[in-house]
Amino acid sequence: NLSDRLERSFKILKGEGKITEINVAETLKDVRRALLDADVNYKTAKEFTETVKQKALGQNVLTAIKPEQLMIKIVHDELATLMGGAAVDINIKGSPAIILMSGLQGSGKTTFSAKLANMLKSKRGKNPLLVAGDVYRPAAIEQLKVLGEQIGVSVYAEEDNKNPVKIAQNAMQYAKQHGKDLIIIDTAGRLAIDEQMMNEIESIKKAVNPQEILFVVDAMTGQDAVNTAKEFNERLDFDGVVLTKLDGDTRGGAALSIRSVVNKPIKFIGTGEKFDAIDVFHPERMADRILGMGDIVSLVEKAQEQYDEEEARRLQKKIAKNQFDFNDFLSQIRQIKKMGNLKDLASMIPGVGKQIKDLDIDDNAFKGIEAIIQSMTPDERAHPEILNGSRRARIAKGSGTNVQEVNKLIKQFDETRKMMRLMTQGGPKAMMKNVRR
Ligand code: GDP
Ligand code: MG
Repeated sequence: NLSDRLERSFKILKGEGKITEINVAETLKDVRRALLDADVNYKTAKEFTETVKQKALGQNVLTAIKPEQLMIKIVHDELATLMGGAAVDINIKGSPAIILMSGLQGSGKTTFSAKLANMLKSKRGKNPLLVAGDVYRPAAIEQLKVLGEQIGVSVYAEEDNKNPVKIAQNAMQYAKQHGKDLIIIDTAGRLAIDEQMMNEIESIKKAVNPQEILFVVDAMTGQDAVNTAKEFNERLDFDGVVLTKLDGDTRGGAALSIRSVVNKPIKFIGTGEKFDAIDVFHPERMADRILGMGDIVSLVEKAQEQYDEEEARRLQKKIAKNQFDFNDFLSQIRQIKKMGNLKDLASMIPGVGKQIKDLDIDDNAFKGIEAIIQSMTPDERAHPEILNGSRRARIAKGSGTNVQEVNKLIKQFDETRKMMRLMTQGGPKAMMKNVRR
C-alpha cells in the first residue's frame, strides 16, 4: 500500500550524509511511483515530487537532522497540502439548510447522517430533521428511527411511500411547519454503481436543490473507493467527501487518491459505529496517518525551530564583526523561501496587501541569485573580496547568467552588508545618516 511504499522510498536516504541531487532524485522516483500506484494522477504526482525536490535541496543546512528524516517531514507537509491544506467547513447556511447523502450501500450513510445531525445539534445549535429516503428496505427506515431516538433528533419517514423524491419534498414542508433549520436526507445505496440509483438521487437533487451533497465512502475499499467517487462526482457534482471506517488499520491513502481524482474536499471522517465517532477532516493529521511517522515529523519541526534561533544568533555575531558572507546570504534567502510564497509573505505586510494583489511577483526571483552563489567556490563565498574579474566571468558562465548580473549581485551584497553593520553597530542614527548621503 501507499504507506509502506513511501516508507521504503525513504530508506534510500538512510546512511546518506546529506541530501544531494542524486539521492533525492532516486528517492522521489520511488515516491512518485507509489503515488501513481495509489491513483494520484500523473500531473499531481509530478508536481508533488518537483516541489519536494526543491524544498529538500534548499534545506541542506540543517545538520542536526538526518536527510531521511528531513525528507519525511517535507513529504508529510506536501501530502497535507495536496489534501487541501486546511479543513473545509460544511455549508449549513439558510433555513432550512439541506444536506443530501450519497454513496454505495454499506458505506455508512445512515450512520453518518445520525452522527452529523448529532454534531450540528450539539455543537452548532441546529434543530435538524433526519429524512428516511431509503425506501427499499423497511429495516433502513427502522435503523434511522432508532438512531434518531438515541440522539434526540426527529426522523421524517413515510412507510407506505416508495417515492423518495416525494418524501424529500414532503419532508421540506414538514421542516418548515416544525421549525427545523437543517434537513439531512439519507438515501438508498446499491452494492455497486447502478443506473436506477443514480437517476433516483439525481432526481432528489433536482427536486430539493441541496446546498451540500456529501458523498460517503468506506476507506477500507481502497481502489474501488476512487472509482466510485469518480462516478458519483460525474453524476452529482457533490460538494464534499465523507471517509468512513477509518477506525481500522487503513492508513488513509484513499483520502489522497480521492482528493486527487475528484478534486473535492474531504470534509469529515468516521472513526467508529457510535455517533460521537465523527471528526472534521484535517489534512495534516491525515498526512501523519498516511506516513505513520508523526514522531519524526515533530522531531524535525523542533530541530528546525532550534536551528532558526541558533542561526539568527550566529548571523548577528557575524554581521557585527563584518564577517557576513555569501554562505550566510544564501542561507538567508533559503530561510525566506522556506516561509512560503513571496506574494503571500509580502501581502501580510500591513498596507501592502491590496497594492500587490494584481502584481505578478515571481517566486523564482531568487533563482538567479542562488545559481550565482552556488557557482562560487567555498573560498569565494567566505571571502567575497577575492572576487576579481576572471573569477566573476567564471561564475557567470557556471551559473548560466552574465557578468553584469554577477556584478550587480556582488554590489547589492556589499551594500546589504554595510547596511546590516550600521543597523547592529551604529544604531539608528548612523543608519539615517547613511541613507541621507
Ligand atoms: P449505509 O448502507 O450507507 O446506510 O451504511 P450504514 O450506515 O448502515 O453502515 C453500514 C455498517 O457500517 C454498519 O454496521 C455501521 O455500524 C458501520 N459503520 C458505519 N460507519 C462506520 C465507521 O466509521 N466505523 C466503523 N467501524 N463502522 C462503521
Ligand atoms: Mg442506509
